[in-house]
Amino acid sequence: MDEGKLFVLSGPSGVGKGTVLRELLRQKTDLVYSISATTRPPRPKEVNGEDYFFLKPEEFQEGIKQGRWLEWARVHNHLYGTPRDFVEQTINSGRHIILEIDVQGARQIKEKCPHGIFIFLAPPSIEELARRLEKRGTDSPGEKELRLKNALQEMEEKDDYDYVVLNDRLQQAVGQIIEIIRQEERSS
Ligand code: 5GP
Repeated sequence: MDEGKLFVLSGPSGVGKGTVLRELLRQKTDLVYSISATTRPPRPKEVNGEDYFFLKPEEFQEGIKQGRWLEWARVHNHLYGTPRDFVEQTINSGRHIILEIDVQGARQIKEKCPHGIFIFLAPPSIEELARRLEKRGTDSPGEKELRLKNALQEMEEKDDYDYVVLNDRLQQAVGQIIEIIRQEERSS
């Protein structure tokens, strides 16, 4: 049996990764989502084991010691990591998996999984990104400022990705990602 493919989706905070991903998974039901672990506190409506595995810092650190994260990084002052076993099991069972991780994590995956396919979701403009971050309203002013600053840095790394998809219209962005996945399936 052929191994599944590993897709990585990155993009700055506020670009709409969550919305694009939800719609992508709704339309492409054979794609498996990798649920990350994080030390960030849950936002309202976020569910443990669905959106993230919400861990205490000491639990996350224990995971680092035990090599449980395929990659991990500190993002906006919190720790985030991809559970290694789940990714490996999914790929070995022939299913495709998608990781929604930041640029630091993507760099680590690129070293470990050179066959991974890297997609960067970009905003139509920085002004639009700032507006979307503002609209979200779930973050404190300090947190928002930090996310915008980090977003500008993340944008500089987009050229290291295999594909850059502009998130102007949701359905168009999702359609483009599905087309990328199909193209990669055909090329194997
Ligand atoms: P948020 O706190 O808004 O859910 O996510 C903040 C950032 O952390 C986003 O850029 C997201 O892509 C990134 N992120 C989420 N999960 C992981 C992960 O497992 N590893 C890494 N490196 N970044 C992650």
